[in-house]
Amino acid sequence: MQVKKDKKVVILATGGTIAGVAGNISKPHQYASGQLSVNQLTKSLDTRGVQLVQEQVCNIDSKDMQFRHWQALLERCHFWLNQNEVTGLIVTHGTDTLEETAFFLQTVLQSSKPIAMTCAMFPANVPQSDGPQNLQDALDWVLKTQENGVHLVCAGEVHDAVGVQKIFSDRSHAFASRQEASLQNDTYESKLDWPMPSVAQVLLTKHYPRVELIYNHSGADGQLVKTLLDAKKSAMSEANMESKQTSMTQGLVIAGTGSGTISQDLLKALEEAQKLGLWVARTSRCAYGVSDPDKHPSIPSLHNLSPVQGRVAMILALIAHAA
Ligand code: ASP
Repeated sequence: MQVKKDKKVVILATGGTIAGVAGNISKPHQYASGQLSVNQLTKSLDTRGVQLVQEQVCNIDSKDMQFRHWQALLERCHFWLNQNEVTGLIVTHGTDTLEETAFFLQTVLQSSKPIAMTCAMFPANVPQSDGPQNLQDALDWVLKTQENGVHLVCAGEVHDAVGVQKIFSDRSHAFASRQEASLQNDTYESKLDWPMPSVAQVLLTKHYPRVELIYNHSGADGQLVKTLLDAKKSAMSEANMESKQTSMTQGLVIAGTGSGTISQDLLKALEEAQKLGLWVARTSRCAYGVSDPDKHPSIPSLHNLSPVQGRVAMILALIAHAA
């Protein structure tokens, strides 16, 4: 591949299986995530003559990803994207919550440069290790793509950040795009009028809004919501309301059945939550689901966002709303 020598690509590493090590290489599923440094990950990378900048943002299993890790990653992405000589970014990440971080970065950065997130399903020191090829593919994609914004490059596939989801827990081809299988091509943005925050607003957020994810399921009676509301009511009546309020739930995203439907009892509890000022919205719990805006008009529909990406969208909207 021909690339200009003055190109610069930045790799921001956050951990995951791509940086994982198995204690016994004949047991590739028994390993610890986030063991290798970014410099170790890139040792055998063919840099294609580009200048590679490497930074370790954190080194964790992505099940433990927190808002503060997102803020640290966002700050580094924002910094590097603003350097003229930077062609694009690569973010290495665990597969478990990659779709949440991808949605977060895409929504806040709205970048005009390519950002490839990549990962692995097998740790770095086993014969099946898929990380090195994924990392090489991510670099190649950044250098040649005409696309902008956050994408996942994994197992020979490229997925848009919005809609990507981990659908297998033990295969190299672990991801699918929710939108691909949907008959509806509208984007969720065309259905939502939520504000989205700037990079500065997200970086300045001290206590990110608590948004819980709740499933509709057989027997869903809204008890969990009622318990949350009782806690909220008692916090509201206490003197130190302000400090208590920061840890109180501000929003609920429902993983609805089918086209985003909700049991009668859960619906009643959610409407009560709305009266107390909580934001409530619906998604579909089906892997390729779309929630129908006409089903329960009192609860906004997040269209084809997955429950976990819908939760991130609500967190961001609440940050923008409060700013
Ligand atoms: N538990 C790992 C993580 O998300 C899984 C992976 O990376 O595949 O960090």
